[in-house]
Order: sequence, then structure tokens, then C-alpha cells
Amino acid sequence: MDTVVSNYLRDYGISPATQAFLAKPQKMFIGGQWVDSSDGQTCPVIEPSTEGVLTHIPLGTVADLDSAVKAARAQFDHGEWRTLKPLARERLLHKLADLIEANATELAEIESIDMGKSASIARDVDIQGTVDTFRYFAGWVSKIHGRTAEPSLPGNYLAYTRKEPLGVVGAIVPWNFPLQTMAWKVAAALAAGCTVVVKPAELTSLSTLRFAELVQEAGIPDGVVNIVTGRGSVIGAAMTDHPGIDKVTFTGSTPVGQQVGAASVRNLKRVTLELGGKSPVIVLPDADIEAAAKAVANGVFFNAGQVCDAGTRAYVHHTVHDEFHQALIRYTQTLKIAPGLDPDCFINPLVSATQKQRVMDYIGTGKQEGAELVLGGHALDGKGYFVEPTIFAHCRNDMKIVQEEIFGPVLVTSPFDDDADIVQLANDSPFGLAAAIYSNDLGRVHTLIPQLKAGTVYVNAHSTLDPCMPFGGYKASGFGKDMGAEQLDYLMETKAVWITLP
Ligand code: NAD
Repeated sequence: MDTVVSNYLRDYGISPATQAFLAKPQKMFIGGQWVDSSDGQTCPVIEPSTEGVLTHIPLGTVADLDSAVKAARAQFDHGEWRTLKPLARERLLHKLADLIEANATELAEIESIDMGKSASIARDVDIQGTVDTFRYFAGWVSKIHGRTAEPSLPGNYLAYTRKEPLGVVGAIVPWNFPLQTMAWKVAAALAAGCTVVVKPAELTSLSTLRFAELVQEAGIPDGVVNIVTGRGSVIGAAMTDHPGIDKVTFTGSTPVGQQVGAASVRNLKRVTLELGGKSPVIVLPDADIEAAAKAVANGVFFNAGQVCDAGTRAYVHHTVHDEFHQALIRYTQTLKIAPGLDPDCFINPLVSATQKQRVMDYIGTGKQEGAELVLGGHALDGKGYFVEPTIFAHCRNDMKIVQEEIFGPVLVTSPFDDDADIVQLANDSPFGLAAAIYSNDLGRVHTLIPQLKAGTVYVNAHSTLDPCMPFGGYKASGFGKDMGAEQLDYLMETKAVWITLP
């Protein structure tokens, strides 16, 4: 570990448990064994607020992926996981949730120093969300069943359906909510009776490796959960081709999702794609402007804007445009930019130098396109991938900063005149992950909701995610759902059974 990082961890009093985790060499988890990459290669993990090396993780190979798939396959085809009685499987998932909860501080610290995010927010949001997701899906294990039907065919039949687990699931996870996104995929797959091979993002694998220790501690059988770290272009791509994987569930960018989707379909694998977003936010004239401005700022600057459903395009009714912007700027200026371990941090550094450069390039593009920069626009001097919260006003929908996903702390806003305009403006995007409306005018809100092409619509809220509600996109934001009862349908086959009765 670089001195700059150890000083940072010491200054903020990181817990002994996290220190102990970081002191160990990091290994992959395959078939219940802790292993290095088969060719011994590793890559450094960079801490985003200091730019120093935190530790190293194995760079897995295609052979490592193959071992993990074989372990998952053997467990699914011949192991005890699938045939475990529902309440026994449910109990194991609850035990895992309890262990995650008991280690929440450590997991939040790991998430913070690996990804850059606020540790205190990670504890309340990412880790609590992970616990809730495992508990929610634990509850489903004993409630999965088929149905009987009454055929109209002449003759006498017993016709019923059975729900059966799909098999081995390959989960490819992004870096912005590493543990929570992994949980969305793994908890539901395990509840359905599947086994999994997880490929965390190469930038943020640490919390998933710590999670694997808890899987072992919970007594979940070997081979049910396998973790292979490494490059997406190697491990992720090999997953979509591997004949031992029945389904690929991917969360990440739209361009990579297109490749994953095409390869999975070519190999006749089931596939779920949770992709990018550019979510519109509509502020109607009757809204509580002060409250809306705070919620819009929180909804776009949370996790420094590295949130798939961040409300990045605000359309504000012209009659409240100036009042809204004053409140928005006033509130945004109170959000503290700080390293993730600072307990008051709201705006954390971006995950990497590449991400910072990408965001700064988009800010440059916004200026060139003639958008009015009303706040921020700069990276902070010194170490750390910090970018100020940035607001561009009076944007046009044909601007690149309005059409493309920036994935950083950048909000674009435009005034609008009437409800017909706003539907057209909000839907004028390749993406369709989420949308938000700020208003208490029930008639207008309910008229807008069905017209918005988005997988989630928030009203007077943003990013209120809970495992009981499905999450997934329309259009280029992907297909399939994570979370909610709906997710189980994407992890199970439905078998139709016909029996001729005498
Ligand atoms: P990314 O597409 O670069 O990477 C996502 C994952 O795919 C990583 O694990 C990566 O290693 C892997 N990967 C890279 N190349 C691959 C390939 N050729 N084949 C298979 N896998 C490959 O995305 P990212 O930069 O990690 O994450 C940010 C993106 O994720 C944003 O676009 C964001 O909107 C999206 N996202 C979507 C959701 C959602 O639920 N819709 C949630 C979070 C993030």
C-alpha cells in the first residue's frame, strides 16, 4: 500500500477489521477455494481520493473462469443447493444477510476506499440495500410455485406448471454500486436455486471478495457462489461464450451491454441487460420549489453523479425557472466535496482518472455547445479525482451533454412551456431508465406517468430503490428486471406438464 493511502486510512481511523482485510493478499473464490490467477498476474487497486495504490487483485484468466463455471455447474447439476428444502435455503440466505449486516462498517469502508464513495452513505444505502436484498429474496425461496390449469381439450388431463431454476448464472457487475448491484443479481439467483459466477468490475472488486468470505462463513455450499476478478474484455467476454453458463445478467454501459447481449443471444443464453441512463426530471409550476431543488440536486450529485438513474436532465416550467435555479444553486453549494472517509462527504471523488477525464471532456463540450455554465465546471487542484458539481442551464435537446450519459456530477437544465412540450422533450433520448416529476397536481402527474418512456417514474422523489420493486430500463437502457418478484421470472424456466388421466 502506498504511504499516501496508509496515511489517509490512519487519519480517518479506519476499523481494525478493514485493516486486517487489506493486510491479506487478495484471491479469487472458486469452488470454495481461495486462488490466485492461474498465470499469477495481478493489477493494482487505486484509492480515488489519494490516487495511491491500495492493494492488488488477481487478474483472472479464461482458464480461471472455466474452473469457476465447472464448480458452479457441478454444484448445480449434482450438488445439494438445488435440492435443499426451501426453508433450509431460505435460512442460509438469512444467515448471509445477518453476516453482511454485522460487518456493515467494514464493508462500507472497503466500498469507500475502493470506489471513492462516502463511507457513511455507503453504510446506509449500499450495505443496507445489500442486506435488504438478501432478506427480501430469502423470503421468496419458500413461496416459489407453479400453477394448475383447466384445459378445454376433449379428454381428461392434469395440467400444471413447475418453476425450475435456470442453472448457472454469470453476473457481470459495474463499479458504481459494486456490492449492491452484485446483491441484486446474486440474491435472486440463489433464491431461485441457481448457482453463480460473479465478475466484479476490475476497478472495484474488493467488497465482493469480502462478501465471498461471508458466503463461506454462512455455510453456503462450495460452488454456489464463485468470484472471478479480472478484465471485462477477457472474463466478461468469455462468460458470454461459455457453454456452461445458462444465463448472463449484466449491468453496465450501453455499448458493452450491446456486445454482451449480441454474444449471449448468439449462444442462445438467457440475458438481462441493465444499461445506461439519462433520466429526465420535470418540475411543474405548482411544485414545492425549495424541496424540488434539493431533491433534484441530491438525485444528480449523489455518488458524484455515478448513478445509472441519476436525474441528469431537468426540465423546469418557465414560470418557476429562475426561482428553481436560485434554490438549486444555493443548496448545491452546501454539499461538501470531500474524500469518502470524511463523515460529512456528499460529493466524493470520481472512481478513476479515466472517469474524471471523461467528465471534464463533457464539461468542455457543454461550453463549446453554448450551454450556460451556472455552477462549477472545474476539477479540484491536487490529488484525488474530484470534480465540482456542475450545472448547465438553457440547454437544447440536440446538445451532446443533453443526449449522452456523462456519469459524473453534471446537471443540464432547460425551461419548458407546456405539458405537450415536456413529454416530447423528456422522451427525446435513446435511454429510458427512469424519470422524475415534481408536482402535487395529481391530475397532471397521472396524465404524464403513462406517457413517459421509462422503467421507473419517481414522483417528488429520486432513486428510492427497494428490493420489493423491479428496476430496469426501456429503450437503450436495457431489458429484463432486477429486484421485485418480477426478477425471479428471469431466473427460472416454466415447465408445462400434461398427464392423461384415466
Ligand atoms: P462497463 O460497461 O464499462 O462495465 C461493466 C462491467 O462489464 C464491468 O464488470 C466490466 O469489466 C465488464 N465488461 C467490460 N467489457 C466487457 C466485455 N467486452 N464483455 C463483457 N463484460 C465486459 O460499465 P461501468 O463503466 O463499469 O459502469 C457504468 C455504466 O453502468 C453506466 O453506463 C451506468 O449507467 C451503468 N449502470 C446501469 C445500471 C442499471 O441498473 N441500469 C446500474 C448501474 C450502472
